[in-house]
Amino acid sequence: MRVSRFLSKTLRQDPGEAETASHRLMLRAGMMMQMGAGIYSYLPLALRSIKKIEAIIREEIDAAGGQEVLMPALQPIEAWQQSGRDVAFGDNMFHVFDRRKREMVIAPTHEEAITLIATANVESYRDLPLLLYQIQTKFRDEPRPRAGLLRGREFTMKDAYSFDTDQEALDVTYQRMRIAYRNIFRRCGLPTLEVEADSGAIGGKDSHEFIMPAESGEDTVLVCPTGDYAANAERATSVIPPAPESAPQEMTLVDTPGAKTIADLVDSMGITEAQTLKAVFYAADKEVVLVTIRGDIEVNEVKLKNLLEVRELRLATPEESVAAGLTPGSTSPIGLTGIKRVGDKSIQQGNNFVAGANQADEHYKNVNYPRDFEVDTIAEIGTSKAGDGCPNCGAALDEVRGIEVGHVFKLGTFFTRTFGGDYLDDAGKLNPMVMGCYGIGVTRVLAAAIEQNHDDKGILYPAPIAPFQVHLVALNADKEEVSTAADATYAQLLELGYDVLYDDRLGESAGVKFNDVDLLGLPVRVVISPRNIKNGVVEVKRRRDDESAQVAAADLPATLAAALAQDEL
Ligand SMILES: [Zn+2]
Repeated sequence: MRVSRFLSKTLRQDPGEAETASHRLMLRAGMMMQMGAGIYSYLPLALRSIKKIEAIIREEIDAAGGQEVLMPALQPIEAWQQSGRDVAFGDNMFHVFDRRKREMVIAPTHEEAITLIATANVESYRDLPLLLYQIQTKFRDEPRPRAGLLRGREFTMKDAYSFDTDQEALDVTYQRMRIAYRNIFRRCGLPTLEVEADSGAIGGKDSHEFIMPAESGEDTVLVCPTGDYAANAERATSVIPPAPESAPQEMTLVDTPGAKTIADLVDSMGITEAQTLKAVFYAADKEVVLVTIRGDIEVNEVKLKNLLEVRELRLATPEESVAAGLTPGSTSPIGLTGIKRVGDKSIQQGNNFVAGANQADEHYKNVNYPRDFEVDTIAEIGTSKAGDGCPNCGAALDEVRGIEVGHVFKLGTFFTRTFGGDYLDDAGKLNPMVMGCYGIGVTRVLAAAIEQNHDDKGILYPAPIAPFQVHLVALNADKEEVSTAADATYAQLLELGYDVLYDDRLGESAGVKFNDVDLLGLPVRVVISPRNIKNGVVEVKRRRDDESAQVAAADLPATLAAALAQDEL
């Protein structure tokens, strides 16, 4: 593509509205254009990368046995009423009405539609396993669309769904998909962590996320440096730090004037957080719940929600706490009855704790569980953090921030039971098919790739997903010797099968052209200039390298191939 004919123009200045690197750089590089909040037109630079990512996904999912379909975005609401997800999705789903005032939705996902397809086409175990996928536009009415393609209202997803005879068969499909996902991200040139993920209140089913490490990521992952454990922090388990233990002492009430927080107690009593207990009061659906946990550990609300099997969980208000007989600032499980009490397993490690007394300006010291208070349930509901021990080997866990780009999980039989998705087994008996679900945010992969791969000058594309592999720059292109040599190089590289962006502009300075090279971030730059022509060389520089190399024109193909291969994982 000749830059002189190219649609997109780069911007000299950063667009004001962009919050993240990918959003800012994609707008500045002319990759996309915003049409509304969270809604973008993809211009050629973005679309070329998206198509490359899609091609890699198609090859790997096809190789895993997938068959591509394309389901409608516009759907009658009845299927969603049948699954109950019209309510579950709430305001996140777009609703429209047709001319006969019938309610329709613009689908945010396709479990209902795919289950109807499988139900209509699968008769017996001979038709299974079945793996169907699509690459399609999804719509979600995000409350706060932000960060460009990272959280938009319209985006491209690859969603795949598997149908198997039973759990064991699903295990096999699930493993195959995990391997396909690893292949996809490796072939895109994007280092990605595969981590254990929360699988919701139903529990017991596998769920893994694929997280691309990036500073701007919203997800926190805990990773064992030995490589034997990685999990999303919201579901990670760990070996918590030890707390001091000594011979149990008698529980006594002490005056703690003004002490309302764990930090106040630590300061005034000369103890560590691990020698305190905190009591946290939650409103869980209609019920009130008191959680007791060691003072140095935070409650993990995802784990607590799964344990309680509730839809909504939030901290109780001070008014609700008082109404339940608690004293904010000195909330205590001691002597408390009549409400549900949950204890984190950390209260079993350490002793002679300082805890609340349910009286203002008083605490108990030497509190020991279970001698001095009771709980109804004891479970692991603490938040694991960096420095905690790996649950497999005990090594200190590292914390990594990242962006979720893929998710695989075992869905079970909810949708096949809902839509009558039965098959006949080899004994002639009807059983519901067992489903798995596998998503990749295609446009999100592009944005995440830029979050992961950029510097202060611009993007640093991994070669496999770069919109063009080579940025060919003609300096002093108004000189005939330059335009002739550059045109010939352009033709040669196209002939060799490279995607080339050719900056053939006559009026622009070397500075402007090199700034665009850095901003657009194509993997390799090739420069044709009067001086290079005189020396019989072309200049080749990888975007990621500081130094350029002068190579004989005849050696250009080999040099390029070697430079691009360096991005392969
Ligand atoms: Zn480990």
